[in-house]
Amino acid sequence: MKKVLILLIFLILILSIPQKTAELTINWDTDYKDKKKYKWVENPQDIIDTSTIVQIQKKEENSIRWWEYPDTIYPTKRNGDDLLVLVNKQYKLPSSYAPKDLVKASKSGIRRGENYYLRNIVIPDLTRMITDAKLEGVDLSIVSGYRSYQTQIDTYNYWLKMNNGNTNLVDTFSARAGHSQHQLGTAIDFSTNEIRDKLGDEFSNTKASKWLSQNAYKYGFVISYPKGYENITGYKHESWHYRYIGVENAQNMINLGKILELYLRDYNL
Ligand SMILES: [Zn+2]
Repeated sequence: MKKVLILLIFLILILSIPQKTAELTINWDTDYKDKKKYKWVENPQDIIDTSTIVQIQKKEENSIRWWEYPDTIYPTKRNGDDLLVLVNKQYKLPSSYAPKDLVKASKSGIRRGENYYLRNIVIPDLTRMITDAKLEGVDLSIVSGYRSYQTQIDTYNYWLKMNNGNTNLVDTFSARAGHSQHQLGTAIDFSTNEIRDKLGDEFSNTKASKWLSQNAYKYGFVISYPKGYENITGYKHESWHYRYIGVENAQNMINLGKILELYLRDYNL
């Protein structure tokens, strides 16, 4: 009799376990599907006064510190060799990245080219550009080309020292290591004999600067940090800094009416 009772209890227990589980699963499922129950999650605007949120958002937009680095830094989405790789304050090149086809910039015939290196892929179009500019009476020289990860550390630290350690200021015009387009070997800082080959803001008033802004894209070069887009690029306007992305890409970019930063973002999702 005792044995039968134990067996019965055991049987009841066995039978009840799967039923309980099934019941729980169904309830869990129904709760999630019960849209009425979770309406507040889907339509918060029904219960929250959004006007205050909009006010806060507007305040933040106006006080945006565009030169700052984001909290999260990602590795670049494309390889450094890719002409369309996005390198900015959010996306960083590996410290080990260096192009394999570096040659002296003088191979293109550009003045001061013996002091700098560029990727060989840039040379044919740069040669055409220098030649055509010269035919139109425009002189171009190079004042910076490829910079290694280590050189960029030194460059950034140099500017930091020159500006009493003010990172907020230096971040408006100098990239930290891994974040510089110069590490790609496709970025060039141009100057001209009009300003005795100096680097900087003076360049924007030269014939060379005007000629580049109108013609460089035809040779695959586009300005990286245009005027008025600081809050998108993260850098002050640099009239002298161009990046080579190839003739076809440059033409596409111009046709789309995009600045380089936004054109590249589309290719680096
Ligand atoms: Zn530059």
